[in-house]
Amino acid sequence: MTNIALFGPPGAGKGTQSKELTQKYRLVHIAPGDLLRDQINQKTVLGQQVAQYINVGKLAPDALVIDIVEAQLVAKDNGDGILFDGFPRTSTQAKALEERLVRYGIHIDVVVFLEVPEEELIQRIRSRAEIAGRVDDQDAAKIATRMRIYHDTTLPVAKYYAQQNKLVKVCGSGAVDVIFKRIVAAMGKLSVMPALK
Ligand code: AMP
Repeated sequence: MTNIALFGPPGAGKGTQSKELTQKYRLVHIAPGDLLRDQINQKTVLGQQVAQYINVGKLAPDALVIDIVEAQLVAKDNGDGILFDGFPRTSTQAKALEERLVRYGIHIDVVVFLEVPEEELIQRIRSRAEIAGRVDDQDAAKIATRMRIYHDTTLPVAKYYAQQNKLVKVCGSGAVDVIFKRIVAAMGKLSVMPALK
């Protein structure tokens, strides 16, 4: 079983690359952003609670996100491994993840950090705003909030994993298939996925 966390700023392409990676490596996809948006769309109580954060570009509360992730871990047969997409995004989440994974006898093997220049991120988010209609992609103030929170709160998580020698930086700039090949090559070097080329 190999467990991967896909890490990076808003617009880095985590969702897009997750689709490719989960297919290739037969991983279970756990994406709190998708789960929270589903809750909002279904107008559940949880959805109403989190909308006030997500819709303005802020992070949802740690306790809530951690519980959602744990519920997924319990509910799913985690097969060949898990791909955490956009989680953890805070140091508290990283530590909680570690504690909870231990309970299930699993751990994070590698954190893939998709690095993309800020101008390209903004451009991608603007393009996505026209296609996907995400509320948090819609205006410059919300995008700026997400970037600021990413720098202040999420980026330190990369250091946490670098200290554990689990962080692999991959250039996330350019075409989707080229980036995917870079990720696969980076994981191959680490022997995280030894059976795969
Ligand atoms: P994403 O789809 O990963 O871009 O996430 C969309 C939004 O969902 C984020 O801007 C946050 O408001 C919320 N969200 C997603 N993942 C997390 C997380 N790990 N911690 C807190 N909030 C999150």
